[in-house]
Amino acid sequence: MLIVTFGLGLIIGSFLHVCVVRIPKGKSVVYPPSACPHCRITLRPLDLMPLLSFLLLKGKCRYCSSPINLRYPSLELLTGLLFATTAYKLDYSIVTTIQAVLLISALIVISFIDLDHYIIPDKMLIFLLLTWIAFLPFTTVDYLNSFAGLAAAGGFFLMITLISKGGLGMGDSKLAAVLGLYLGWPNALLAMFLACFLAGFVGIFLILLKIKSPKDIIPFGPFMAWAAFITLLWGDQILHWYSSFL
Ligand SMILES: [Zn+2]
Repeated sequence: MLIVTFGLGLIIGSFLHVCVVRIPKGKSVVYPPSACPHCRITLRPLDLMPLLSFLLLKGKCRYCSSPINLRYPSLELLTGLLFATTAYKLDYSIVTTIQAVLLISALIVISFIDLDHYIIPDKMLIFLLLTWIAFLPFTTVDYLNSFAGLAAAGGFFLMITLISKGGLGMGDSKLAAVLGLYLGWPNALLAMFLACFLAGFVGIFLILLKIKSPKDIIPFGPFMAWAAFITLLWGDQILHWYSSFL
């Protein structure tokens, strides 16, 4: 089962990469088929096997020998690992796992688009919202709890956005609100604190290593995505651990 979800993650990861490249350009994610960005030759199924093609071709295009961007295999591997971890942690509960995996896929796309373009596309947020609604008949949802999560996370970030005057974008608040809906109360708040903590930690690290200056914008989407992933899988455990201190 772990191998199956890992394999599925690799395949979906390959599609997510297409989404990351095409969605900001407003292009279709299904047509035209993938081509080498250097020689423009349409790739055949044999060239598109996730991870395997990269290894077999030793990281070079079969037709023009240009190096294949390391991002392709990394994104595929990341998706595979996250999917397998999710299936393992959620104990193979099919509906919950499918919903989680869709959420994680969208978060991967959002993170990479935010890293590249400093935007969080509304399209992706609408996708997440529609997915949440689509799963309502199959899951037991405490609406009050979900909307409390939405209000807490969205409100928290709206406040920071207004205070920071441009440090964070409205996209971050909207993403926080949608994630709040998924995570519910109080996990949503945990995720937001975790996101700030991760961003602060990585931010200081990047400044110390002189990769970024304090004036640079560091996209916040990826931190929210990681925080949501951690909270989704381990949120209850973290809250339990935390409350045992109080
Ligand atoms: Zn090529």
